[in-house]
Amino acid sequence: MTKYIDAHAHMNFATYNEDCEEVIKRALDNDVWMMNVGTKAQTSQEAVEIAERYDEGVYAIIGLHPIHTNKSFHDKDELGDEGTPFNSKGDVWNNDFYKKLAESKKVVGVGECGLDYFRIEGNEKEYKERQVKAFTSQIEFAIEHDLPLMIHCREAYADTLDILKSYQKDYGEKVRGNFHFYAGDTDIAKQILDIGFTMSFTGVITFAKEYEKLVEFVPLDKMLSETDCPYVTPVPFRGQRNEPMYVREVVKKIAEIKGLEEDKVKKQLWENVRRQFGV
Ligand SMILES: [Zn+2]
Repeated sequence: MTKYIDAHAHMNFATYNEDCEEVIKRALDNDVWMMNVGTKAQTSQEAVEIAERYDEGVYAIIGLHPIHTNKSFHDKDELGDEGTPFNSKGDVWNNDFYKKLAESKKVVGVGECGLDYFRIEGNEKEYKERQVKAFTSQIEFAIEHDLPLMIHCREAYADTLDILKSYQKDYGEKVRGNFHFYAGDTDIAKQILDIGFTMSFTGVITFAKEYEKLVEFVPLDKMLSETDCPYVTPVPFRGQRNEPMYVREVVKKIAEIKGLEEDKVKKQLWENVRRQFGV
């Protein structure tokens, strides 16, 4: 039994409040399994609650996104209208809260965590320190619970790699995981491979030609497929809200770029995610 895997979805986001079950059913009926990724306490809890409703095929990753350690970020697709008690800002890592969530067998990873220097606001040093603290807390949490990391990294590859390497000095391969929505160059990709991490690709590879070189470069057994839904809908569904089922287009494109049969790619990506996240 081989499945397509959406290794990074957000069915836990507000944009799916009305039709979450329908969209997940559509994915499962189309041979697609998924891991829904939390971005803060509320969305992490929702990822777990959703996963608990299914015997198989739907899993949760829990964590605090670096952008939510910031004071002013708000995305309506993610959290709904502003001003509800859930969309607090300037979040800090709450170990006890996430520890309780991690009791669920459906939790297969920690994240999305990492560093995002794309839009620095206020005092740069303080901004980065907040993110680093949330990130290292989550690495320690992942080590304690023997879980892989789901890394979000934007314009911060050097710092992210340094931090991961310093933990690997003490904990070795216990510090492991995936760089989601990989958008660096082949040099950085090589460094990521050197520390044993994988990289995942989204629907962006179906319409942005500059990813071809990267997809060619990263070995098939070191990559994962994802949608990052509701964002970056792949061709031919551009203009619509993204959903896990569309990960099939990402797999198809990887096969096309690598010149391999889609079935072979599907099987390898499935093995990768099972090996790494144990779904
Ligand atoms: Zn995400």
